[in-house]
Amino acid sequence: MRAVIIGAGIAGLTVAKGLRLLEWETEIYEQASELKPLGAGLSLSANALRALRTLGLYEAVVAEAQPIHRLDLLDDKGQVLQSTDFQRFSRQYGHLSMAVLHRGDLHKALLSELPRSIIRTDMECVDARQVGDNIALRFANGEIVESELVLACDGIHSAVRRALFPQSREHFARYACWRAIAPGFPQGMDPARLTESWGPENASAWPRSPAKGSTGLLAVVPITGTTPSWLRPILQKFRRCFPDFTSRRSLIGPRRTR
Ligand SMILES: Cc1cc2nc3c(=O)[nH]c(=O)nc-3n(C[C@H](O)[C@H](O)[C@H](O)COP(=O)(O)OP(=O)(O)OC[C@H]3O[C@@H](n4cnc5c(N)ncnc54)[C@H](O)[C@@H]3O)c2cc1C
Repeated sequence: MRAVIIGAGIAGLTVAKGLRLLEWETEIYEQASELKPLGAGLSLSANALRALRTLGLYEAVVAEAQPIHRLDLLDDKGQVLQSTDFQRFSRQYGHLSMAVLHRGDLHKALLSELPRSIIRTDMECVDARQVGDNIALRFANGEIVESELVLACDGIHSAVRRALFPQSREHFARYACWRAIAPGFPQGMDPARLTESWGPENASAWPRSPAKGSTGLLAVVPITGTTPSWLRPILQKFRRCFPDFTSRRSLIGPRRTR
């Protein structure tokens, strides 16, 4: 049996490993010309870690990750609102219940489990249609590929979803996400403790340790044109700890138009 996967991101590589365990022939088509370890910090919860264990990927991924033992929700003054003991869940499940790592390290670990020959790069899927029992996929270079099973793993702006379900639309929530990573830890910081600060404008910031040996910050802020007042002292503190810190705003905007 043969399956075609569109997108060599986190979902595409993971599902390819699963299908190969079931002895499916798999082909992955990726729009990028090169597979690079891109991104910043990403957290894996118990369900994702369990799925990785089932797929035989747990050890490879966890070797790159920082286990998280506690998550503290804080108010904008740093007072603890709620605390979750992840070690308790880890003991109950028999595997980690929370870990953080760099998306690039997760991507690399997943890639290392697949033969490179099944991934074709420079293959941007631009259309998908049902043709009898098959799906016919058209690529930007004019190639057509048909398969009985197609997995659309082409991310938030999925071209396959747009082609097959034209009525489905992304919802733009008017929030922006800031991500940053810096080498090292501020003095006294516990790398196994994740904190999430909630500000008055219903937004949150997570100082976190996305990979062993580095610290990250993730802030979700409403798009109001200015940095919310509650976020400014957090960013200032971060900049004091990491003088080389530069910020890059990543915005999930409305639908891309072709
Ligand atoms: C470059 C990048 C960096 C990211 N960084 C972070 C991060 O730091 N932290 C975080 O929490 N999340 C990050 N994300 C999002 C996160 O990876 C996803 O939200 C989540 O992992 C879901 O995975 P996914 O496989 O559905 O999508 P993605 O991981 O987004 O992967 C989608 C893949 O499909 C490919 N693709 C898209 N359109 C087409 C097409 N038409 N034809 C062929 N291939 C196509 C993309 O190039 C990409 O490789 C990032 C995503 C990307 C693409």
